[in-house]
Amino acid sequence: MQAEVLAIGTELLLGQTVDTNSAWIGERLAELGVTLRRKTVVADRPEDVRAALDAVLPDTRWVLITGGLGPTKDDLTKNVLNEYFGGKLVFRPEIYAHIEALFARMGRVPGPLNRGQAELPDVCEPLPNAKGTAPGMLFSRGEVRFASMPGVPYEMKHLMEAHVLPRIKAESDAHIEHRFFMVQGIPESELAARIADWESSLADGLSLAYLPSPGVVKLRLTARTRDPREAAALLEPASSGLRGVLGRDIFAEDWKTLEEVVGERLVAAGQSLAVAESCTGGAISALVTRVPGSSRYLLGGVVAYANEVKVRMLGVNEADLLMHGAVSEPVVRAMARGVRKRFGSDWGLASSGVAGPDGGTPEKPVGTVWLAVSGPGVEWAARFQMGDHRERTVRKSVLEVLNRLRGFLPQEPAKD
Ligand code: ATP
Ligand code: MG
Repeated sequence: MQAEVLAIGTELLLGQTVDTNSAWIGERLAELGVTLRRKTVVADRPEDVRAALDAVLPDTRWVLITGGLGPTKDDLTKNVLNEYFGGKLVFRPEIYAHIEALFARMGRVPGPLNRGQAELPDVCEPLPNAKGTAPGMLFSRGEVRFASMPGVPYEMKHLMEAHVLPRIKAESDAHIEHRFFMVQGIPESELAARIADWESSLADGLSLAYLPSPGVVKLRLTARTRDPREAAALLEPASSGLRGVLGRDIFAEDWKTLEEVVGERLVAAGQSLAVAESCTGGAISALVTRVPGSSRYLLGGVVAYANEVKVRMLGVNEADLLMHGAVSEPVVRAMARGVRKRFGSDWGLASSGVAGPDGGTPEKPVGTVWLAVSGPGVEWAARFQMGDHRERTVRKSVLEVLNRLRGFLPQEPAKD
């Protein structure tokens, strides 16, 4: 099935508001196996909305319209749709009662503008809006449905979830099921090359999508079948095939984050962690502590930016600093060992690099990062070239060192 989004709002075109509604709708539709063919953004101008309605593609079955329903814009979308579908506005007492009840909760009474919100085209099916005053509206033209929803993101999501997505799902004949495989530290192109054979042997009904973000690639394997049993029969062998190719480079098989997986493994092993951060400036601790309950394994950290701090707090050798510089193997190794010793933790992580934009040299250009892990029977350090974008260098360094730690932690019982 094919759908389109029509986002209405001058602020979206001016860049004052980012059109997150379309992105959210796109994700939900993909989950249902519905093809989002087009997103259109138009200003709060009746003629532009009409033109967009005229331009709906022939194969589109659902047009998801957001915005222009607030009481302030003369109910732009409502009036345009009412005319477009040849209706007339009628007062709906049950909608007005809902608006009154919402106002009463705040100790207020609705004004005349809100009374207008209870007038809806007689040719639409109202979609009750539990989260706000403007109801959604569902129109039909032949086989095509037009769902009009407010622009406020949480109201739009509510209407989609309560009324629209269930209908789309019921009309869609496909059963869609996804599996996610989270991979860190392998560039997308390299990943694609590694799994090329596996991917080209995927059975009919299966498809693969790459969802990359800095440092992490999510692979989404989708089965489009008639029923769940058929989907499982396709997904199981393909999943084990992928595990065979990527092995432990897959850090999770659902929407888990790397920091969650590392946390779970530390808890399972009953082990603790401390971090010594130079170029990441606290970003490792920040990410680790995003996980609720991280106090069970993170003891603490040192942001050791100055050489003096590396020496005094972490026991880094001054001679090493002089001879090799702060961004070097002996220093980063000493930092990881030092923080582990200082905090009495099972594991120590360390970072030292040139995040840029300044400070690069021919031997250590911007983006050079040394990372280290020290732990029971483990001493690991490696040099990376993270590129010349400061924030991404930090982000990638954090994920890289956490993923290394994950690799050293006791493994979960293997799947399969
Ligand atoms: P009206 O424009 O008639 O007042 P509306 O339903 O479009 O009604 P707005 O007041 O325009 O509501 O928008 C409400 C809030 O929702 C605003 O903060 C607006 O920027 C935001 N918004 C509108 N459309 C989108 C969108 N596509 N994505 C994200 N936010 C949006
Ligand atoms: Mg608007």
